[in-house]
Amino acid sequence: MELRKDPITRSWVVVGHPEREKVRPDPCPLCPENRIETHALLDLPAQGRWQVRVYPHLRPFYRIEGDPGRTAEGIYDRMAPTGAHEIVVETPDHTRTLAQMSDEEVERVLDAYAQRIADLKRDARFKYVTVFKNEGPQAGEEWTHAHSQITATTFVPRRILYELRAAREWYRERERCVLCDILSQEIRQQKRVVDTVGDYYAFCPYASRVPFETWLMPKTHNHQFETLSPGEQRRNMASLLGRTLRRLLKVSPSYHMVVHTAPNTLQTKGELSEYWSTIAGDYHWHFEILPIVEQRSKSYSIKEVYFNGTYPEQAAERLRQIDPNS
Ligand SMILES: [Zn+2]
Ligand SMILES: [Zn+2]
Ligand SMILES: [Zn+2]
Repeated sequence: MELRKDPITRSWVVVGHPEREKVRPDPCPLCPENRIETHALLDLPAQGRWQVRVYPHLRPFYRIEGDPGRTAEGIYDRMAPTGAHEIVVETPDHTRTLAQMSDEEVERVLDAYAQRIADLKRDARFKYVTVFKNEGPQAGEEWTHAHSQITATTFVPRRILYELRAAREWYRERERCVLCDILSQEIRQQKRVVDTVGDYYAFCPYASRVPFETWLMPKTHNHQFETLSPGEQRRNMASLLGRTLRRLLKVSPSYHMVVHTAPNTLQTKGELSEYWSTIAGDYHWHFEILPIVEQRSKSYSIKEVYFNGTYPEQAAERLRQIDPNS
């Protein structure tokens, strides 16, 4: 496997196939009784046993050892897939889903995300840490047992790079954070806000890419999700996430969720070094949830333009009407 850079869009593509390892799909490798034979990177206990456990991924896209060794091939750039790829097992219970968990349990999952991001960011080789979750058959979920994935990469994924550039430009022109501006207009207009718990808001973004796309973010500006403090703040975010997932699962059984947080500022080389001067002021962490409602959204892969058949104002209205407690 290797990483190749598209010289036009500047996005990196993982080319090749992850090595097949001794992974039995059945019995479930994430269940505690079928323990995967690797050591846990993190254990978060509850009631005397672990609730959340983080492992190296069984078929990793990225490998922790070595140097990315970026080399040129004529006009092209390539590098080794150095990085980290981890699985966050969210519960020992094979049938329990994130949406069914108590606020306390969801909070432990968020704690695991934050601890792993902070830990991986200590490695200066990694420019970005992504936390994401694919749930449901249409989202390409690998195992039905509730889990999320974490990757640490020697490059910043394209969508994040776009966000960082746009946020920095906005900040240069206005000395304000674009996401703070977005959220305050959403709160003022109340057209696309779905729910709020304490300082945290769920809303359907103005130019939603797919029906019922929903973002979660704190009103108080903060560029790093991993600094989310334990206690009331984290509990409120956990509560909002649970409520939002319960609503979204009424419109679709499958979704993608991704945490957008600031890149690793230990990295001072390369295309991002110039971004750090204002990062604490210009970027704002958020979760993006993209339910899979229409198969038509696949047309993106060909045309690179999203076709969303549902107005976000209508999506938000519909989601507000769904009971988030059941
Ligand atoms: Zn299982
Ligand atoms: Zn902000
Ligand atoms: Zn984002």
